[in-house]
Amino acid sequence: MKNKPIIALPCRSFTVNMPLTPQAQGAIDSYVSTIVNAGGIPLLIPLIENTDDILQLFECCDGLLLCGGEDIHPSHYGTNLEKHELGDETVTEMMQPNSVRDTLEIALVKEAWKNKKPILGVCRGSQLLNIAFGGTLYQDIEQDLGIKGHLALRHKDDSPELLDANIHTVEIECDSRLHSILNTDQIYVNSLHHQAIKDVPQDFMVVAKAPDGIIEAIECKDKNQFAIGVEWHPELLWQRNNAEWINLFKAFVKSASS
Ligand code: MN
Repeated sequence: MKNKPIIALPCRSFTVNMPLTPQAQGAIDSYVSTIVNAGGIPLLIPLIENTDDILQLFECCDGLLLCGGEDIHPSHYGTNLEKHELGDETVTEMMQPNSVRDTLEIALVKEAWKNKKPILGVCRGSQLLNIAFGGTLYQDIEQDLGIKGHLALRHKDDSPELLDANIHTVEIECDSRLHSILNTDQIYVNSLHHQAIKDVPQDFMVVAKAPDGIIEAIECKDKNQFAIGVEWHPELLWQRNNAEWINLFKAFVKSASS
């Protein structure tokens, strides 16, 4: 019997409500349960500084899921951290870069690529995938591009409806792996990102855009490598509003099992 593929999920760091031991690591449950439902075995990868140890751990993994989270430090795409006056502490606090996570995830992406293991990036994950190969980001959509309203979650409005709200559509390129998985030219998505992809590296292409021109998905040009990044959160959408979004994760897990 064929074993199920093991999908590596790098953790994020956060504080918990335990006064003596507030620092914790873990993954948001929606990613974990989505991998389970798509037929994979999720393996949480701890954030430690010894990258070699993590690459050794990754040898037993068949795919890499890059989850959402804080902003990537802009030094990884050749610029400085700009002090955006967002007028919203929630955004700035939540988005503080974590250098251990940045370094570890970049190393894992390169290792996955070298070994032809599939990679799926969600939100921050798509941005990480982009910068790991030399791409760049807009540090804030509203500040850098003057586009308002792209990030639904802003101004301390954290109502759960925003997680699965149809915030904007995306147009999907016909000749793309993403199109072949979703089987549609246009689809509604949620939108919980305040950063966006700017320049796309040579081995990648833009495969979905929002009506305001924001790049919403990228994938690699090599048809033999599964590497897709999406700015929206399909791991929330399939559980809440459109069950078909599980197909993206099923395609990813299937690719990891072949
Ligand atoms: Mn968006």
